[in-house]
Amino acid sequence: MAYQAEYMWIDGSEPTREIRGKTRILADGATPGIWGYDGSSTNQATGDNSDVVLNPVFQCPDPIRGGDNILVLCETLLTEDLSPHPTNTRAAAAAALEKYADQEPIFGLEQEYTLINPSTGWPAGFPPNGFPAPQGPYYCGVGALKIHGRDLIELHTQACIDAGLAISGTNAEVMPGQWEFQIGPVDTVTVGDHLWVARYLLYRLAEDFEVEVSIEAKPMKGDWNGAGMHTNFSTKAMRESYDPIIAACEAMGTEDAVARHLAGYGTGIEDRLTGAHETQRFDQFSYGVSDRGASIRIPWQVARDGKGYIEDRRPNANADPYVVSELLTSTICAALA
Ligand code: ADP
Ligand code: MN
Ligand code: MN
Ligand code: MN
Repeated sequence: MAYQAEYMWIDGSEPTREIRGKTRILADGATPGIWGYDGSSTNQATGDNSDVVLNPVFQCPDPIRGGDNILVLCETLLTEDLSPHPTNTRAAAAAALEKYADQEPIFGLEQEYTLINPSTGWPAGFPPNGFPAPQGPYYCGVGALKIHGRDLIELHTQACIDAGLAISGTNAEVMPGQWEFQIGPVDTVTVGDHLWVARYLLYRLAEDFEVEVSIEAKPMKGDWNGAGMHTNFSTKAMRESYDPIIAACEAMGTEDAVARHLAGYGTGIEDRLTGAHETQRFDQFSYGVSDRGASIRIPWQVARDGKGYIEDRRPNANADPYVVSELLTSTICAALA
């Protein structure tokens, strides 16, 4: 019987990239090959030369449609010579992984996000004419006054498992209506593939609840936490001893590395990295054991065991995971080589 393949790709939206998808019906036994779309409608081409090529790079079962239906994540290529489109950030992540594969870089990304009530435009749990009680009881909380949207989170988590994604956990976050899921630990390219598909599934499932998912970095100004994408990283050497952990932190702290990394860490980074709400200021760099006010945290178990991984707390929730994973792989693996 014919089946449905949801082709997905990353668009050219500015300043924050979005995932898009369209459906292709394939005959029984047919495999999903290259396809295309109108790049002039996604900020990736002009109308007179509008075609952009979709090249399948990752596929998995479609947990929403079920049956034989699949999700097909694609990278974007130019029609002229099938080289990467300028907005194809996966290609650089793949090149970095190939270059440093012998160091076995792996990632765990913590995707924070905020559920927005479309009738108020405010986060779920914020009353129409006022504010909820201050932050404190919401993080990992339970109970109807504290928690908003759990039905959606449960469905999304199971959908990620059914799709075979490397989802490693979920939790309610510090601000009402704010949640997190984690993808990892997997390599430089896989973490981006799985994170983008997990975002797609979240947005898609949220349609049925008539709530909007926002990955904005600071959805509520004032005394409310922003939304980040903490990036946990290790190489084989870091998983075996402590010196490479410190060397990795030092490599991330040079003036050049700080500037390059912040430029790739998402839209509105200055609004979120204020020095308050469990962040270090964007114009300061620091690392420390257990320090959630540092740019990079070394988890306490890592200091105790003398090996493990580091957590870069700076990337925004709206960052492109391929850009973030390329930056950490290139900066740290070059230093440890
Ligand atoms: P936090 O305490 O900061 O909230 P989380 O439990 O949300 O931490 O996320 C930690 C992430 O780190 C998980 O995705 C996990 O898979 C990942 N992780 C664990 N070990 C490693 C490692 N050695 N290298 C990279 N990532 C790792
Ligand atoms: Mn977390
Ligand atoms: Mn978190
Ligand atoms: Mn974290």
